[in-house]
Amino acid sequence: MVGEAWKCPHCGERILRSALTCPACRRHLRFDAVTTGRPVARPTLCPLNVDGTMRHSDGASISEYSVIVEVREDRGELIARRIVNVGALEPGQARRITLRIEMQAPEPSGSPAASTRGR
Ligand SMILES: [Zn+2]
Repeated sequence: MVGEAWKCPHCGERILRSALTCPACRRHLRFDAVTTGRPVARPTLCPLNVDGTMRHSDGASISEYSVIVEVREDRGELIARRIVNVGALEPGQARRITLRIEMQAPEPSGSPAASTRGR
């Protein structure tokens, strides 16, 4: 089923069942990903890639932080809200945060895999 999720057997992260490699731990998940030199994987698009650094302001004492990611439908309904990381920064310390969305490129119409979409 398109969009079906499961847990990576290596790291336990919730990922797409269609993934050939886990986007979290980057280990191979499917046998065909190892055996076929050129796997059936379609190109990965990256429609959003945000990179930023949070730096502790000078002078203050240690500050705690939470990195929160929210996903909403286009109508604004909350689908997921996750705390990705928590911690504390001392003066002068920083954390670099990258938010990236990876999408499979659309299948070319007429390919054999298109028939598995559940008509
Ligand atoms: Zn994994």
